[in-house]
Amino acid sequence: LTLPTSTGWSSGQAGWCYALEQKRHTMNFEELNLAPAIQKAVLEQGYVTPTPIQAQAIPAVLAGQDLLAGAQTGTGKTAGFTLPILHLLSQKLATDLGKGRPRCLMLTPTRELAAQIEESVKTYGKYLSLTSTVIFGGVNINPQISRLKKPLDILVATPGRLLDLANQKAVDLSGVEILVLDEADRMLDMGFIRDIKKVLALLPKARQNLLFSATFSDEIRELANGLLRNPQSIQVTPRNTTVQRIAQVIHPVSRTKKKELLAHVIQSHNWSQVLVFTRTKFGANRVADYLEAQGI
Ligand code: AMP
Repeated sequence: LTLPTSTGWSSGQAGWCYALEQKRHTMNFEELNLAPAIQKAVLEQGYVTPTPIQAQAIPAVLAGQDLLAGAQTGTGKTAGFTLPILHLLSQKLATDLGKGRPRCLMLTPTRELAAQIEESVKTYGKYLSLTSTVIFGGVNINPQISRLKKPLDILVATPGRLLDLANQKAVDLSGVEILVLDEADRMLDMGFIRDIKKVLALLPKARQNLLFSATFSDEIRELANGLLRNPQSIQVTPRNTTVQRIAQVIHPVSRTKKKELLAHVIQSHNWSQVLVFTRTKFGANRVADYLEAQGI
């Protein structure tokens, strides 16, 4: 029995994986032309290679484009938007940085995410003179009001508390040059759409917009259509596809030969860890007995 060449186990496929690795290694952070102060902070984090979302998002954001990005947590999306934003803001330092009047607003659904993002802003921006703060609900509002009495470049916020603070005139959103909607699908799931729309109404019309979402429902597309101008679309997690690093193979075989084929595939590849799924408990027992009898 030989496996089809498209299975990932043949030498041809190995060559393809190798080519991908090679391609990945040719891209590094220097090529993205981020300010040296940002590159230094990134290097300190131990990042060598931009992730796929970073390789695509960073040049687009630096070029001033709107962005529609499909990316889940874990893809490096936070640095994907934070790094180029820090670069843009640091290249053009504000002349009229008012108290509680941010130049960049990053909206995100939960306090944990908000805190993480602001942590990233601080980490990647440690050698820049930009300022940032984070606001979210469920905690005392007064320290947030106090912090907003000082100037800031970047505000990371959850929608409800932000709207609260905007209504109290503690925050002024009229100077926002760049808007990020992070995890937009989760914000909609959590019922933030009305708050988001109210926030959008407080922003100046001319601005750069970046929308990140893991999934793209009709509701998200509607939000994106109303928000983004001629966006660059980036998709690093296509919907309903399998993980790229997992090769999937189908062996059409008659029922009577399935166990033998399974034993053969396992033995011929010398696999030591294999998960086998069967339709029934009875089937699972039979497969296990057979494999044991084969010395597996
Ligand atoms: P995120 O998807 O933004 O939540 O990031 C996931 C994790 O990847 C975070 O812990 C980052 O510190 C890390 N990370 C982001 N970019 C890179 C990179 N280029 N190389 C290595 N790790 C990274």
